[in-house]
Amino acid sequence: MILFSDSTREEDLKFEPYKPCPCLSGKKFKFCCYQKARDFKQKSLSELNYSDSRLQYEMNKMWDNTDFKTCFGFNKEECGSLIKNAHSIQNNRILNRISDDNHVYQLSNRFSNDEGVATEFKRISKNKASTFFGFCDYHDTELFKPIELRDYENDEIQNFLFAFRAHSIDMHKKVRRLESIRNIFKQSPNKLIDPFFVYNFKQAELDVRDFNLDYEKFQREYLESNFSSIKTLFRRLPFEINFAVSACFAVKDDLNGNTLNEIYNIDRNLVLPSIYINIFPVEGITNVIISYFLDNDDVYGEYFKQLNHLRDKEFVDYLNFLIIEYTENIFFRPSFIENLNEEEKYSLLKSFESSIFLLEKFELLCEDNYFNFNLFSADTL
Ligand SMILES: [Zn+2]
Ligand SMILES: [Zn+2]
Repeated sequence: MILFSDSTREEDLKFEPYKPCPCLSGKKFKFCCYQKARDFKQKSLSELNYSDSRLQYEMNKMWDNTDFKTCFGFNKEECGSLIKNAHSIQNNRILNRISDDNHVYQLSNRFSNDEGVATEFKRISKNKASTFFGFCDYHDTELFKPIELRDYENDEIQNFLFAFRAHSIDMHKKVRRLESIRNIFKQSPNKLIDPFFVYNFKQAELDVRDFNLDYEKFQREYLESNFSSIKTLFRRLPFEINFAVSACFAVKDDLNGNTLNEIYNIDRNLVLPSIYINIFPVEGITNVIISYFLDNDDVYGEYFKQLNHLRDKEFVDYLNFLIIEYTENIFFRPSFIENLNEEEKYSLLKSFESSIFLLEKFELLCEDNYFNFNLFSADTL
């Protein structure tokens, strides 16, 4: 969830009385949930008197309830009958490489009465890591053959598919996020007139819209075999990293601090184009693959030139920031995390949280511990 910024407009913080109600009833807000919102008396968390484990259970359940099965494959008539819990990061080629005893670490939310929400490292089986219900059995196999069966060679269709898979998992997540806020409204109608929730709902709605627009683009270009419609920056680093990431997001600023996207602005006329990023180790090296759709050249053209000009050392320093600031779909080798010192661990977790809670950032800056870790451990550069 995002905090308000300077560009937040008054109208972004409430639902219009004569616009369709966010509950999807088809009625206007004023004549649907508005009265419920005003009358509802919310029990506070302390009144509910949940234990920490009950709280964690309820929060997990709320998220699980938003899960859904779909296939993002392009030719729907070819779809298989079974929707798989598909890997967004290749299991055999990539997760295998960063696992210890078939396990990896992911970033996970922990809820407690004292702290609210905090991030922690969670050990999970590599077979479950990065999975989501986004492809049928047929498409999960067929569509991704060029990256599943062949080593990465920086060719157009591989770049296209890596970008598309990064898009898919985040699209699935964006739809779930919107649904989770809708569920909160159902349970606690008073949140419908709470500026924080209204803003987050509107932002989630626009995220889904933007991701749908991108999906249509992927579909159109794929069906026309027009794989050169995305531009890719590829860099091979001469060492093996201990993590893998696949993600899709709109970047706020370029390397000189100029605004690329007003990511807090939820004006409906504004579309936020994304970049697609995949970073993973292969035998003795690391592949960094970053792409955008060429029709967004006005937004990202110059930014990619800046990235291209960086030497490896500066490049990974920047990625160290970019990855933790913008992504959740990241998995670490357990021994890598366990070998970080306490200060580095703390810095990593809190820097990740600081992309959501601004206060964390100020605290880290005061402690001189903001992004004070190195994912790439690139002493060799
Ligand atoms: Zn309603
Ligand atoms: Zn399918």
